Amino acid sequence: MLNAAPGIRLSGFCPATSWECVDVNIILMGPQGSGKGTQAERIIPAYQLVSVATGELFRKAVGEGTPLGIQAKALMDRGELVPDDITCALVEEKLDEVGARKKAGEPVSGILFDGFPRTAAQAQRLDAALAERGDKIDAVILIDVPREDLVERLSGRRTCSSCNAVYHVTFNPPKVEGVCDACGGALIQRADDTPDAIAKRLDAYFGSTAPLIDFYDARNLVTRIDGNQPIDVVTAKITAVLGPTK
Ligand SMILES: [Zn+2]
Repeated sequence: MLNAAPGIRLSGFCPATSWECVDVNIILMGPQGSGKGTQAERIIPAYQLVSVATGELFRKAVGEGTPLGIQAKALMDRGELVPDDITCALVEEKLDEVGARKKAGEPVSGILFDGFPRTAAQAQRLDAALAERGDKIDAVILIDVPREDLVERLSGRRTCSSCNAVYHVTFNPPKVEGVCDACGGALIQRADDTPDAIAKRLDAYFGSTAPLIDFYDARNLVTRIDGNQPIDVVTAKITAVLGPTK
């Protein structure tokens, strides 16, 4: 008997009787301020996914001094961009690690890609790497928020200077203006939440993701979810795309 829940496709290589082989590989896309991080935190445990975020992979590889980490660090120290070759090789190492964990019987159902791929070229390489491993992307979820709303969300953000709790001047204000509810610390606007920094980040996001979305649209994989809804509603819509949780 297949244990696959409706909406989740089975991967080709696993014995169909084993539930851990029910596979769902997701790309979660959305600009900063879209609530993508919060949704990832909910979806990952609900579907027993492993997160693949390239920022984390870089930090870990550099920290552990792996061969790829050493190469990446040398480039970053010279202020150069890390080329796709290294980024994609890091992701492939992670795919193999996740594959090994599944094989060892760990309850891993798939991968949630967060912040990768960033370009259509990276997406092509990811497709090839997954295909080599008998796997594929099952869904691309795009949390859509209009740019002007993102500017409002991000520019109103205030962070506690002592405990890092995050507030919003309009949507989630502290009880006393400028003071953290949790610890009484001073609330500050972080340097990357200033209007200039926000504009730069959003330019980079919208510039590089448009061709990426086209790439996955051509494969009918993209579901757009309106991010201007309560967090629980967005989670419910993502769950509706992916099928019932385990
Ligand atoms: Zn605080």
